[in-house]
Amino acid sequence: MAIDAGQHVRHRSRLDWGIGKVEGSNGESVFVRFGDQLKTIKISFAEQFLEAVTAGELAAGRPKERAGPAVGRIAQCPECGKDLTRGADGEWRPCPHCP
Ligand SMILES: [Zn+2]
Repeated sequence: MAIDAGQHVRHRSRLDWGIGKVEGSNGESVFVRFGDQLKTIKISFAEQFLEAVTAGELAAGRPKERAGPAVGRIAQCPECGKDLTRGADGEWRPCPHCP
């Protein structure tokens, strides 16, 4: 298969890496990002071991977007603009500055 930057792939023998994204190539190796790891894979191996992931598979395998920032992340109160925090239950805490 042709390996192009931006393409989503998986590694046939390293399925635990999940879905990676091809970041580029230097003509000898390709660079594929799996999560926060950037793997360098020789092109001859890449052609043998990397398998294209289709857009449909990608959509199915991607975790749903969270409704808002993760627990502990902050947002601003629409009333006073001060920081709000989100509890472990996923609910925003009431603004401590507004009645
Ligand atoms: Zn407020």
